Amino acid sequence: MSFEIKEKDLLARVGKLRTKSGTVETPLLFPVINPVVQPISPRNIREEFGFEALITNAYILKSRFRKQLIENDLHRFLDFNGVIMTDSGAYQILVYGDVEVTPKEIVEYQELIGSDIATILDIPTGWKVTEKHAEQTVNETLKRAQEFFTLKTRDDILWVGPVQGGRYLDLVAKSAREMGKMPFQIHALGSPTEVMERYRFDVLVDMIMTAKMNLPIEKPLHLFGAGHPFMFTLAIALGCDLFDSAAYTLYAKDNRYMTETGTSRLNELEYFPCACPRCSRNTPKQVLEFPQKDAQTFLAEHNLYVCSAELKRIKQAIKDGRLWEHLEMRAHGHPTLLQAVKRLEKYQDFIEKHDNAVKNSGLFFFNSVGLIRPEVIRHRKKLTETYVPPRKAKILLLAPQTRTKPFHKSKNFAELSSKLQRTFKEKSNRIHTCFYAAPFGIIPIELDEVYPLSQHETVLPLDKETVEYVAYRVFDYINRTSYETVMLLNDSENWKKIILNACKKACLKKSIKFKYINTKMKQNKTVLAELGEILLEK
Ligand SMILES: [Zn+2]
Repeated sequence: MSFEIKEKDLLARVGKLRTKSGTVETPLLFPVINPVVQPISPRNIREEFGFEALITNAYILKSRFRKQLIENDLHRFLDFNGVIMTDSGAYQILVYGDVEVTPKEIVEYQELIGSDIATILDIPTGWKVTEKHAEQTVNETLKRAQEFFTLKTRDDILWVGPVQGGRYLDLVAKSAREMGKMPFQIHALGSPTEVMERYRFDVLVDMIMTAKMNLPIEKPLHLFGAGHPFMFTLAIALGCDLFDSAAYTLYAKDNRYMTETGTSRLNELEYFPCACPRCSRNTPKQVLEFPQKDAQTFLAEHNLYVCSAELKRIKQAIKDGRLWEHLEMRAHGHPTLLQAVKRLEKYQDFIEKHDNAVKNSGLFFFNSVGLIRPEVIRHRKKLTETYVPPRKAKILLLAPQTRTKPFHKSKNFAELSSKLQRTFKEKSNRIHTCFYAAPFGIIPIELDEVYPLSQHETVLPLDKETVEYVAYRVFDYINRTSYETVMLLNDSENWKKIILNACKKACLKKSIKFKYINTKMKQNKTVLAELGEILLEK
């Protein structure tokens, strides 16, 4: 295998991709090199900015530099001794219509110039197209992919099998399924550029997830044309490993300054919110006075630094098991990104299945957006699919979450618990305590030290959706178990009457006894008296 996964978080991974020009770490950004005009030299891109790989266009090379390149291999021609990926010209087809090159020629040409990673001549679907046209692009790309294996002669190049289909998800699924059966080393998702330009990140989520769920998950996935750092976290969290960016120079030409949360116009900036070597030495006012070409180079260089820094932050977040927190933080950079994160609800089962069950750090739960994170889903599944309460338990004692974690070690609860033991002796094992807590819902006392049920921080007061989620979990738990009595220690300060009502409703439905005490767990005596009464009735 040319791809080895080292660390995982959500669907993201830090991996090693082996090519004939060396091994590179993913997630990896390939800056796009335009061999005709290039503000930063390929050598500098590696030596100064630390990018180990770049991408250039085989179609442009073939049509403009054919002669120079036949005498020189690609690495010498570009003066770059890292990893070079070539795109086939598919994007040019999208922009200019047909290109005067056959799929066979473009395969042979990439083998001739010695690309490390090469792409077959696919047909990009595009955005404003009919389903019929989209289907044709998928079928023609699949046909070319099959033919490709009869054309290739070198085994040391990693070949990319692109997935098409655009916003037609059934077609994306078909394309991914069929492409995934062929022995390509890398897959790519084609034509999301327009989706991204329109800020339809929710559609992008659908496209990436559909491709991901139908491709072999162990193979690296390239997202074509996703070159802005403010969306790297989203794409990486969904399992994209490779990216290319022409945006760093395209934005520069347009006086646009990238940040990890969005884009600013150079003339609107009073300060540079960046400490890269370029921004540290200049002010926006000074750069505006640069000759146009120098200002563009300045912006392109800064843009590359921002991309590089954000990728490092993401890799560290994956390693720390904090990618979800990073994703939520970035999602608040733009409403459309947050909308995209909310869209993950649709894919929660798949993400949960592939996410690490134990991570290096606890969870920060900010608001109801966090209810779809895999840890919350996993606990809910565990509780509804496999959990069975202790055999002797007849009374469910529902206690509120406390600031101290694990909850059973909080001072008030520990006191109550030891009094229960002393007062009721062996009868106390008929009482089963569960905590109601955000964001997990119901936490049986014997599980409250299991990761991450004690390893999280929440915000009080909770938002309405979170309170309702926990209340529904309480209702569902009572409904699916067979306690004879439910006793609620009602924390009305944090939960108003919402948990109380959920309990009442569930107990009524099950025709079981329900009691409650409004408490901050200070009235242990009352609790004991009530429980005594219930136990004596038995
Ligand atoms: Zn900068």
